[in-house]
Amino acid sequence: MIESGEFDFENRIVAPNMVTGESEDTDYSLRPKTLSEYIGQEKVKENLSIYIEAAKKRGEPLDHVLLYGPPGLGKTTLSAIIAHEMGVNIRITSGPAIEKPGDLAALLTNLQSGDVLFIDEIHRLSRAVEEVLYPALEDFAIDIIIGKGPSARSIRIDLPRFTLIGATTRAGQLTTPLRDRFGVIQRLELYTKEELCEIIMRSAVILGVACEKQGAMELASRSRGTPRIANRLLKRVRDFADVMGNGVITRDIAKIALDRMEVDELGLDSLDKRVLTMIIKGYGGGPVGLDTLASAIGEEAVTLEDVCEPFLMQMGFIARTPRGRCATELAYRHLGIPKPGCSECADGQTTLDI
Ligand code: ADP
Repeated sequence: MIESGEFDFENRIVAPNMVTGESEDTDYSLRPKTLSEYIGQEKVKENLSIYIEAAKKRGEPLDHVLLYGPPGLGKTTLSAIIAHEMGVNIRITSGPAIEKPGDLAALLTNLQSGDVLFIDEIHRLSRAVEEVLYPALEDFAIDIIIGKGPSARSIRIDLPRFTLIGATTRAGQLTTPLRDRFGVIQRLELYTKEELCEIIMRSAVILGVACEKQGAMELASRSRGTPRIANRLLKRVRDFADVMGNGVITRDIAKIALDRMEVDELGLDSLDKRVLTMIIKGYGGGPVGLDTLASAIGEEAVTLEDVCEPFLMQMGFIARTPRGRCATELAYRHLGIPKPGCSECADGQTTLDI
């Protein structure tokens, strides 16, 4: 029997976005401040450092930058680093926070020359706001309508030259005219286990937590390629180390703690497992449409699509077909469920070499 609709998203330990009780403030100390402190994403860093150096040499602001990739990979962090490396201020906002064209106009007119304006979730800007953004990005000017009806007139206000950094988890949802106005487009990738281990060791030093390399590796392998999750797991496992051990995060402590938190050895939690189990047991392995799957589990389709699917697909546990989602052979094996007609996993083998 598959339970439905009771998952506590607010406190999901492997959520890639911020969860209840987390704040940018506590997070701030863990954020790297320079490109050299920023671990991983080598290609992106290499490219950005060239663009930054060239812009500085010419004495111009950096071209507009679009960063895309799943949540928690370091888009906000990287934007602050870009501003720091350029020696300018950064203003941080998000697509849904800019409700009206006037909100954007207020933001833009308050910028100083060279400043970075960071808009998170830029795909969620309204059309009306986007229209104001186009001339701002291209000509560094905005057109404002004053008055109403026949007496309305448009005046043009010049803006300081600035750099827009847009971040999005859904590059495909950006309109073409907006995407075309970014000179630099970079995709952030999920981090390797080794990179996450380095991030965890760095965060442990900052937080004053004793963490053995093996302990950090255990955390890294369950962090779903995402630094935000790695840092969160580190903080929670520290509590177990303090109470159950001598304060040092060893491999054993990390294993015990993560097992108790129901994060398995590949980083899957109970929600992921419910999704896979539903596809396999409820729909014969698929294909099943996203909406059908979501209602069977009692969650919103968009939540499944944003918080579960990217990782399950990355791990090769589900495949997307035109007719819906299918569980792969790897999923059957990981859950220890024999796949009909598959002699290889008929013994319910659960080990994986990923
Ligand atoms: P996003 O904006 O993509 O959701 P953030 O920039 O807010 O992600 O990063 C989430 C957390 O992960 C931050 O607290 C930051 O400390 C950490 N982090 C992200 N990328 C890195 C990195 N490359 N090196 C070290 N820490 C990182």
